[in-house]
Amino acid sequence: MGEHGEALALVRLRRGVVGESRRVCHLIPIPVDQPAPTHLTALCGEQVYPGQAELLDRICGMPCQLCLLQSSPLGAGFLTAAG
Ligand SMILES: [Zn+2]
Repeated sequence: MGEHGEALALVRLRRGVVGESRRVCHLIPIPVDQPAPTHLTALCGEQVYPGQAELLDRICGMPCQLCLLQSSPLGAGFLTAAG
């Protein structure tokens, strides 16, 4: 879904890495044609290191609103509609 053939991964920081209130689901663009980087940066700017986050196959818990805003083609209107 990225602009340059990137895949988007859904990750959540593990319990203990951050406080419960920050354990939101981030969207992270994964470069498909490059070696794995040492860390990944979520759409919202959060830096995620290997071992600190769990990969999700669906959103569970709170999504990161900044990541959603960055990824949604509908922009802020989508979130407004979602309440
Ligand atoms: Zn985020």
